Amino acid sequence: MYDSKTRTYKYYPITVTLSEMNPLKTVNFYLLSYDDQLILYDAGWDGNQYWQALQHTLKENGFNLNDLTGIVISHNHVDHCGLVNQIVEKHDVPVYSHEKAIPRLKRDPDFLQMRIGFYEDLYERFDCGERGKWQVDYLIESFYKNRDAAIIPPIKSIEDAPLQNLEVFHFPGHAPDQIGLWDEENHILLGADVLIQHISSNALVEPDKKGRRLPTVHQSVQSLNKIASLPVDLVYSGHGVPIENPHALIAKRLRRIDEKGNKIISLIKNGASTGSEIAKTYYGNTYKQQFSLVMSEIIGQLDYLEHQEIVTKTVENGVFRYKVIGG
Ligand SMILES: [Zn+2]
Repeated sequence: MYDSKTRTYKYYPITVTLSEMNPLKTVNFYLLSYDDQLILYDAGWDGNQYWQALQHTLKENGFNLNDLTGIVISHNHVDHCGLVNQIVEKHDVPVYSHEKAIPRLKRDPDFLQMRIGFYEDLYERFDCGERGKWQVDYLIESFYKNRDAAIIPPIKSIEDAPLQNLEVFHFPGHAPDQIGLWDEENHILLGADVLIQHISSNALVEPDKKGRRLPTVHQSVQSLNKIASLPVDLVYSGHGVPIENPHALIAKRLRRIDEKGNKIISLIKNGASTGSEIAKTYYGNTYKQQFSLVMSEIIGQLDYLEHQEIVTKTVENGVFRYKVIGG
């Protein structure tokens, strides 16, 4: 007999708690069952603790690894795809992601070389001097060091994933390739890092495949607005606790983006004109300590302010100089 109860999604969160020092608090990934499908959304970090957590959640709910029918990777960051190689080696299941994630997950050398060149040019344009050069050297070193971190199995486009009754949403901003899964029947969103309860997720500056800078803060605003338009009751995040009734939190995150933009406008009015001047005045010592995060924030904000026609820039000796329009 047809049992309507099995034809709805069931969620089994897998949570690994991080050390108290780590601002992410937890790494979360999820099993979803529907009919005879068992999908893994994200795959944690690479490591025994994550493997054990997966095995534990499978067993606790009457599953084993061979019941898995697919893996969906929410975005290319290492804390979301760590177990993929290990799982597929033991049980051959299809792996899906947004197409833009594929060269990053595969660590495609041509793409990564282009990406390094992108940051080299970017940090010059934003006047980052020696600190920028140091960052580029670090990226070159990582390119060689992390070659083994590539995802080995073939990766299919998320459009081909068998996700009955789930809508796939593209949530760029934090990563160009981030996808969420929307379960309209249960009003649940699997959102990865688009919304996190205890921290605002960073918009990380990235190139597209042709090396053009993506408007990441603007994209974050659009992704947050997209969630705000849904009748969502629960967001399952990549880090921290599940978020009930997320609309107030989304409004707070959007306000914070505006506040940061306003602060940058006042710094420019007070004489900071290059990216690094704005970043140093805004963030002090954090500029040096968390350089790539700070510059992502400042660059994304400047692009967004420029898009809104609040600031404009000129180029002097290869360096962007910003001023407030009419200011
Ligand atoms: Zn991430």
